[in-house]
Formats: sequence, C-alpha cells, structure tokens
Amino acid sequence: MTGNEALTARWQGALMNNYGTPRLPVVRGAGARLWDADGKEYLDFLGGIAVNSLGTGHPAVVRAVSEQIARLGHVSNLFVAEPPVTLAERLLSLDGRQGRVYFSNSGAESVEAAFKIGRLTGRRHMVATQGGFHGRTMGALALTGQPAKQRGFQPLPGEVTHVPYGDAEALRAAVTTDTALVILEPIQGENGVVVPPEGYLAAAREITRATGTLLVLDEVQTGIGRTGHWFACQAQGVEPDVVTLAKGLAAGLPIGATLAFGEAADLLAPGGHGSTFGGNPVSCAAALAVLDTIESEGLLQRVKETGERLRDGIWNLGHPLVEGVRGAGLLLGIVLTEPLAPQVQRAAQDAGLLVNAAVPDVVRLAPPLIIGEAEVEAFLRVLPAVLDDADSSAP
Ligand code: PMP
Repeated sequence: MTGNEALTARWQGALMNNYGTPRLPVVRGAGARLWDADGKEYLDFLGGIAVNSLGTGHPAVVRAVSEQIARLGHVSNLFVAEPPVTLAERLLSLDGRQGRVYFSNSGAESVEAAFKIGRLTGRRHMVATQGGFHGRTMGALALTGQPAKQRGFQPLPGEVTHVPYGDAEALRAAVTTDTALVILEPIQGENGVVVPPEGYLAAAREITRATGTLLVLDEVQTGIGRTGHWFACQAQGVEPDVVTLAKGLAAGLPIGATLAFGEAADLLAPGGHGSTFGGNPVSCAAALAVLDTIESEGLLQRVKETGERLRDGIWNLGHPLVEGVRGAGLLLGIVLTEPLAPQVQRAAQDAGLLVNAAVPDVVRLAPPLIIGEAEVEAFLRVLPAVLDDADSSAP
C-alpha cells in the first residue's frame, strides 16, 4: 500500500465524508509547493482555497505564531490580550473609518455575526444573491444562494430574498425600508469567480443608503490582498457598513473578523454574541504577521502584476478549451468552452499542479500571494498539456 493509499483508507474510516469528493493526502509544504504522502511534489495554485496567503512555512508567520504561543496562547473572554486589540486597530486603519471588530474563527462565523447585527436593526428581511456563498452554519446558509447546499437543512432562519448577482435593478426592486441588510461578495468566489458589472457595488451602496439598509460585503475570499487591494471594495471606492473577513487573514490559522462601521458598530449589545476562541492571540499574531508581510514585501502591487501576467499568459496560450479568464489580482477563473473543469482539476493534479473546479465550466486559481515570475512560468508551461489531457478525457 502506498502512503497515499494508506492515508486515504484511514480518513475514509475516521472522517465524515461531508465533501464527497476524492481528497489528495497532503503531508507538508514549503512556499507555494506541497507534497503528498507518496512524496510527489505539487505547485499549489489554490493556496488552501485563498487561505495560505503567504504559502506554507513563511518565516514571519512561523516566528509570530511560535513567539505568541510561548508567551500567551489563550485567554478567556473575561480577559483581553493585546494581539486582538492591535489587529482590530490595524484592520480598521486599512479601511480608514472609525469602527469596531468582532473576532471569530471562520468565514461562516464572521457572516453569522453580520446576520445578528442585521437582526438587531429591528428589521427582518434580508437580501442576498443567487449563486452567492457565505458559509454553512444556519444563518450563513440562509444567505447562501445555492439551493443544493441548503437541501435537507430547512427551515433556515431569516426572511431572505435572493436576487440575480450583478443586476442592480433587481436589487433595487427587492430592497425596501423593511430590509435589514444586503449581503454581497465583491466577486463571487465559490460560484466560479463571477465579476459583477462595473458600478454594481456602488449601486448597491446607493440603494442601501436610500433605504437605511446595512450593506454587508463578504470579503472572506476577496479580502486581505487577494485582489491586489486590502479589500476588493476599495477598488470601487465603496464603503460598506459591515465587512466580513476570514480565509487569507491569518495565513492558515483559524480566524474570522466582522468589521462594522458607523451605527452598525454599536448594534451588538454587551452579552449579545460571543465565541470562546474568537480573538485567539495566536491567530491574531499570525494575522499581524500577514499584514506586516503584505506591507514589507509590497504584495498588493505584486499581486496586481503577477495576476495580470498570469491572466494574460493563460489567455495568450490560445487554447481552444479556454473561453476567457476573469477575476482580479490572484483570484482568477479560467472559463472553459465546455464543462470540463473537474477533468482539468484531475489532469492538473496528475501533472503536479493544484487548481480547483469551482463550477463545472470554471477552473479557479487562488495561489499564495507570494508567488512570482518563476511560479507563473512553471504554471503556464504545464497548463497546455493539462488542458489537452482534460479535453481528450471528456466523456
Ligand atoms: N464567505 C465566502 C465569500 C466564502 O468564500 C466562504 C468560504 N468559501 C465563506 C464565507 C465561509 O467560510 P468558512 O468556510 O471559513 O466558514
């Protein structure tokens, strides 16, 4: 039995099969490289799905986490440690407005807090988007606009209307003065890196402002440098009332952050919400190392440049299976002319490249933000054969 076979047999016996897909046993990494249990090396263009923002084993993260766990690994909510305070101050300063931060442990929890803030407006109706993904806990799942993920879990909380994504007029028609919040992703990640038309976020801001509705931007996937900006909404000049963050914020350690501005910042009353691990000093120390590294290595600018190089490079291959490349920065979707994304994912894995079939006709790329020219060139060298392979293995 190989190492991969052995670990596969063990996980199938011990872990719930909730994802229902084959899972590659991965045992270690370095930068943008990963190794499986058979010792095979992969170029990681998925980054734990936009989580491993600095790759694996970045010295700044290793140092920050080691020092913090040695000094103070956890305090209960009866006390306060310095790292969450510093991180909250830093996150607010990236936005530039006054506000407050609630820390949790995942993207779904960051959305749950936003859901509760919405409820505390005294309004019940909420508007989200078809195809949108906000997590799998019950409140977040109610906002998620993917019926297949909701199946079996009804009734879900809330009075949620799902409108087509990117359609400002549909949004205008759905939002009233009884609507507590509108939640949107600046780019729909799980739904295949769907980029809305120019002006959509600004229209959402105008519509919500006119009705006194909170605008919640779910930046769990797009935030913290992924698109070449701290927050993707900054590229549009849009200021939301609430921003949700997780994924890439702490370079792989569990964290969720809900940033609230203006009146939204004061809605959660004392005792209104909480989490034992939220604001964990070690996760916050990792996040501070991420923010420091993005700044010291000029990663926002680099992500814009690397993303453009990658996007142009894929398009310029002129491969007949590629209909287009969309996204921003290092969150990119290769749109295929046929629904062969699962075949591309499989062929890529065989060739030592990790990518993801987000939806049947879109291959999602979310590599670590630290990748450079060498990784992009390596990816572009292998991709044509991968696409050929996927095409020939089509059913
Ligand atoms: N919101 C968005 C936009 C996401 O992409 C995700 C995760 N894919 C979530 C929320 C949920 O995050 P988590 O899996 O950490 O709960």
